[in-house]
Amino acid sequence: MPAKILVRYAEIALKGKNRGLFEQQLQNNIKEALAGFQADVKKIQGRFLVSGPEEERDKILGRLSKVFGVASVSAVEETGLDMEDIKELALKMAGRVSGDQEEFRVETRRPNKHFPYPSPEVCRLVGAYLQEHIPHLKVNLEQPDFTIFIEISHQKVFLYLDRLEGPGGLPVGITGKALLLLSGGIDSPVSGWLGMKRGLTIEALHFHSYPFTSRRSQEKAVDICRKLASAGGRITLHMINMASIQKALRAQCPEDLAIILLRRMMLRLAEKLSAERGLQALLTGESLGQVASQTLESIMVTQQATGMLILRPLLGMDKKEIVNKAAEIETYDISIRPYEDCCTLFLPRNPVTRPKLEAVENQEKKLDLAGLLAETLETLETTQVEG
Ligand code: ATP
Ligand code: MG
Repeated sequence: MPAKILVRYAEIALKGKNRGLFEQQLQNNIKEALAGFQADVKKIQGRFLVSGPEEERDKILGRLSKVFGVASVSAVEETGLDMEDIKELALKMAGRVSGDQEEFRVETRRPNKHFPYPSPEVCRLVGAYLQEHIPHLKVNLEQPDFTIFIEISHQKVFLYLDRLEGPGGLPVGITGKALLLLSGGIDSPVSGWLGMKRGLTIEALHFHSYPFTSRRSQEKAVDICRKLASAGGRITLHMINMASIQKALRAQCPEDLAIILLRRMMLRLAEKLSAERGLQALLTGESLGQVASQTLESIMVTQQATGMLILRPLLGMDKKEIVNKAAEIETYDISIRPYEDCCTLFLPRNPVTRPKLEAVENQEKKLDLAGLLAETLETLETTQVEG
């Protein structure tokens, strides 16, 4: 018997035409997430039903619980629309778990309003039947040891004992494409995850400074992308070497403006790459007030290097919330591996916290911007990272 898994998604926000798009994209993404399994994905009313090999059930459940757009998943057993069959199946399932667990309840959902028994009646009948056949069972509606959930749909009835929460949000691919500026720090992976949760397809761009920075910073970017891809299929990762730009900045510009000048170069490169790849926005891990480069003035002067829309999903989060999220999505342990970021290279002792656009632009006039950007773009390397 194949394992069956019921996949729920939040329907409340879905109206009209969007609903069909959402469901189609989610179905595709689920199929992609399960590409390594012999699994089948079927649309049933307001849900998906996945069937796959019993011995891979837990792995499939784990994968599904990471797919954006999925509200929750349950391993289910199914039977026909018949009260006697429901009782029998409930008894079989209760028999398996009731060993030392005595207190239970039954919860019923009935989207199929043609089913002859209303939900409370189903609960009552099934509960009584279980107690009749397993005499040590007691009903406890508040804090049961286990719950038999019954869902009566139009063609089938599903029974299950557990529910695993998914991330919710929107299916990746439904709202557009963005370029994640991925540093290898704690923040930017979380920003990418939140962007994906709002339905964005993500490509990532990591700036390094090899040989001034070690290959390890690049490995971190790959490992982080692998984690992000486990929720969204696959991620295209771009790497660009900033060494020439950093050398030019150090030779020709004052130290206290180095970070902001570097950031503006990053944005220009990101803009060029986005144009080539058809990416519509940038995503960063910027927050407000964390460091000198994240004052309102710094963010403003940095952003004025590009006309592109920059999304900053972390703006409203404090560091603790970001760290907790990073731990939850399993990027934290990768991010805290020691390494040199290209931004900490030649780090000024006293970066300017309230830079003036004019002063920054005056410095840039001294540089061969077009030449530096073209030379740097030639270092672009692109790989596909699988989840
Ligand atoms: P993170 O934890 O993401 O490194 P941070 O708190 O260290 O962020 P900054 O160093 O000010 O903050 O960087 C702000 C944002 O700029 C990062 O979140 C990231 O989006 C982008 N960024 C910084 N360095 C790099 C890099 N080497 N490659 C790509 N993007 C970068
Ligand atoms: Mg950083």
